[in-house]
Amino acid sequence: MLIWIGIDDTDSRKGMCTTYIASLIIREIEKNHKVIGFPRLIRLNPNIPFKTRGNGAVSFLVDTEDLADVIDIVNEHVIEYAESESDPGVVFINPENQKLMNSLHKLSVKALKDVVKLDEAFFIIGKFFIPHLKFKKGRGLIGALSAVGMNLDDMTLELLTYRKRDRFGKKREINKDSFFQADLLCYPDVWDTVDWYNDTVVCVPNSPDPVLFGLRGDKLEKIILALKTVECEDYDFYQIFVTNQATDMHIIDEDEVESLDNFKSYSLTGKVIEKPYEIEGGHVFFKIDTRFGEITCSAFEPTKQFRNVIRALFVGDFVKVYGAMKNSTLNIEKINLIRRARVFIEENPICWKCKKRMESAGRGKGFRCRECKTTANYKILREIKREIEEGFYEVPPVARRHLSKPLVRMNVRNKHIFR
Ligand code: ATP
Repeated sequence: MLIWIGIDDTDSRKGMCTTYIASLIIREIEKNHKVIGFPRLIRLNPNIPFKTRGNGAVSFLVDTEDLADVIDIVNEHVIEYAESESDPGVVFINPENQKLMNSLHKLSVKALKDVVKLDEAFFIIGKFFIPHLKFKKGRGLIGALSAVGMNLDDMTLELLTYRKRDRFGKKREINKDSFFQADLLCYPDVWDTVDWYNDTVVCVPNSPDPVLFGLRGDKLEKIILALKTVECEDYDFYQIFVTNQATDMHIIDEDEVESLDNFKSYSLTGKVIEKPYEIEGGHVFFKIDTRFGEITCSAFEPTKQFRNVIRALFVGDFVKVYGAMKNSTLNIEKINLIRRARVFIEENPICWKCKKRMESAGRGKGFRCRECKTTANYKILREIKREIEEGFYEVPPVARRHLSKPLVRMNVRNKHIFR
């Protein structure tokens, strides 16, 4: 029989990683049963407060005649490896139950774009008699069910390498240059390996979890080439995941809703109505007028050179912004400058005889040329040259969120890629 296993919330900020535990479980299950295809790493709503880091859950499909044995393997691994501060949940789903799969799909969309109550997960578990493992409150059941239910119309791959156990928590030893070399060889089929402008290897985390690095892309052979190119400490093993990363699946289009809420991600069009301003710490804000009224947008310091794009906006620019609503402010991940406003500044008129700039003739008395004695009544308008072009801009790789679709994957014109 076929059975989907969904698992989530086995890690804490102190360590561990659900993808690692899932990979260990897969290796054990494969000794006596069959795991079909790659496991799936499903990112859910990036704005929910309960997440440890990237709000990722894992699911994989098993072919077995002995479900009880599979459940034992999973249970033993979660007990042995899950962090004590985590809140694990695991579900075992029969994919042939179409009603159940439809319910899970609905739940997964909500978990991706909205906030789900734990009771909603328990309701589905009770309604469909779903075999499950619940530890403590079992908050992980939300992610576990959603990881099984998510339909992937668009998908990418991530290859995660895991450290030797005696290296957990220690500084990661890598040859930085080799990661830049891998990027040169494999971009754009593999992205977000490094950030050239910010001189950072972005695919190597700093957290104390078992991951050594993760290579993201959509061509497996190029991911493997990148893997062969990078030089680093020995790793234990690697696991390839199918993911919804880099798909923008979390974004709710403005046409889908009547109002905006915190903890959700949106794409909104609007006109810039306030010149961008900066606050201490280098965070940049501006306001746009949308069909929902005035919305404050932000580009925080970690978005680095992306803030220069925001700083260069002017009142009247027509934009589409993509980002997460927090504290009633849209934290921008990407922007399309659809139509630049023409911007004019007022200047004193030019003397038609000598071509020099006139001076004020006194308050309310217009302008005059001191030498030629010519006069004029009004200032003139000069159009200023805009510093940015129309088109798409995105945060650099160092600031990318897992679900954000990088421009390199987008089939649009006028892309300005920070690499
Ligand atoms: P990592 O990235 O290392 O896997 P994480 O960021 O995925 O860590 P978790 O430990 O999985 O963090 O915690 C996220 C918790 O939030 C899980 O219990 C999951 O079930 C729950 N959750 C996920 N999405 C939602 C949602 N939309 N609403 C409510 N709870 C959610």
